[in-house]
Amino acid sequence: MKKDKSGAKETESNKCPVCGSDLQPIEELPSGKRLQRCSKGSWNSETKQVEGCKFVRWFNPDPEKLDEKCPKCGNPLIMITTRSGKKLKKCSTAGWDREKREATGCDYVEWFQGSKEELDEKCPKCGNILQLVTTSNGKKLKKCSTAGWDRETRKATGCDYVEWLNEKKPSNGDENFPDHEI
Ligand SMILES: [Zn+2]
Ligand SMILES: [Zn+2]
Ligand SMILES: [Zn+2]
Repeated sequence: MKKDKSGAKETESNKCPVCGSDLQPIEELPSGKRLQRCSKGSWNSETKQVEGCKFVRWFNPDPEKLDEKCPKCGNPLIMITTRSGKKLKKCSTAGWDREKREATGCDYVEWFQGSKEELDEKCPKCGNILQLVTTSNGKKLKKCSTAGWDRETRKATGCDYVEWLNEKKPSNGDENFPDHEI
């Protein structure tokens, strides 16, 4: 390593910020997440711990700038995909202070609840229009347009007809039920 006082910190890209070693090539996990470890660190699958340098850089998909304004401060909102595949909107001024380990900027967050469109089909249970719903983690289902969500009682309201379009049903339906106010 060269010591060059004038050239502040330009080459963080492929060096470990913890120990200064080279980083390993980017790995892709089965879940599609990408990460880069320090070459001085390795994953021990027996002890389930990182040995050596623990630095890991996660690659998150680039946040998508939305055409919406933050209701708190008026700055643009961005769409983030979490590690579990859920989407949320947050304020573009939000940040993370690594030194103080605290959030900075505006703290507005809104979980993205997917989208829905009306179908030309009738609910077999009650005869109202069905809606095609895409959940925040990309699953699709048809449900009755009269179905709703009562935030106070935290219960589904209206007609409970649901038809999942994905082949396998979610193991725990409640958790994936998309309808916390769309
Ligand atoms: Zn390192
Ligand atoms: Zn804001
Ligand atoms: Zn219905």
